[in-house]
Amino acid sequence: MIPATFDYLRPATIDAAVSALSDAGEDAKILAGGQSLMPLLRLRLAYPDALIDLDRIESLREIRDEGDTLLIGAMATHHQVIRDPLVREHVPLIAQTTETVADPAVRHRGTFGGSLAHADPAGDLPAVALALDAVFLVRSVRGEREIPAADFFVDWMTSALEADEILTGVRVPKLGTGWGMHYEKFHRTAQAWAIVGVACAVRRERDAIEDARIALTNMGPAPVRATEVEGSLQGRPASEDTFRSAAEHAPSGTEPPGDLHGSSEYRAHLATVLTARALTAAATL
Ligand SMILES: Cc1cc2nc3c(=O)[nH]c(=O)nc-3n(C[C@H](O)[C@H](O)[C@H](O)COP(=O)(O)OP(=O)(O)OC[C@H]3O[C@@H](n4cnc5c(N)ncnc54)[C@H](O)[C@@H]3O)c2cc1C
Repeated sequence: MIPATFDYLRPATIDAAVSALSDAGEDAKILAGGQSLMPLLRLRLAYPDALIDLDRIESLREIRDEGDTLLIGAMATHHQVIRDPLVREHVPLIAQTTETVADPAVRHRGTFGGSLAHADPAGDLPAVALALDAVFLVRSVRGEREIPAADFFVDWMTSALEADEILTGVRVPKLGTGWGMHYEKFHRTAQAWAIVGVACAVRRERDAIEDARIALTNMGPAPVRATEVEGSLQGRPASEDTFRSAAEHAPSGTEPPGDLHGSSEYRAHLATVLTARALTAAATL
């Protein structure tokens, strides 16, 4: 299929990009890696009047150490994120999860920011950003603002970004020592979207769980924080029994979809099994 006609702009700076987006109006779209947007254009499920391509803005690819946080530029590709030494050292959950995203060709073009802005409930990185309490940095001609991950994912394929806003980067807190992290993903074939996924970070002190952050992929129109699981782990011994009984709470407060890949009951069952596996893996790292 051939996309509908559109104007194509390729600004060299963030200022030029936000101006172009503001001038182009509500029917313009940002183009990042194009891995999700181009198929939508070709199927004419999206037909923007203008595309603002961020590819020339090198500063948006930067990954930098800010002390207590890492700043990951929106245009950092999945491939770049996986190999980045800062990401691997301070937030290995992001590197490990990104390794499960798609195939090498998609990972060379697809971007960290594009995956988050797309807000696909089956996408893997939104749950990771939620579990890590990441903060989204956003720019428009009106200025800058920060959106906590808990407020960023609003509904099915809908983020808190306004039509004239660009996601420029994501600030991720470093979790420091004592934390183990793991992403457990169940997918129909290797290199495919999650039927259900569990992003998990656990801090142990000796044999007890001191803190836990858990978020679920594809258990509703947006990623969900498994707060009941987190609460039931606090201060408990880090054992298989603890993880299995805490994981029973995983479906609580979720709205799992039923589709060709599985019913909502099946997804609820998967969430329980995968949460126990993710906790075991994270707590033994
Ligand atoms: C075959 C295939 C398999 C895949 N498998 C997986 C998988 O297993 N797990 C997974 O998580 N993902 C998967 N994906 C999606 C992949 O991760 C894409 O890279 C991602 O969804 C979109 O990133 P992108 O940079 O290509 O964004 P684009 O396609 O360019 O944009 C996507 C959307 O986000 C908006 N957008 C992009 N960047 C910004 C920004 N900086 N500011 C504001 N809006 C922005 C665009 O306007 C558009 O609406 C797969 C994709 C393909 C094609």
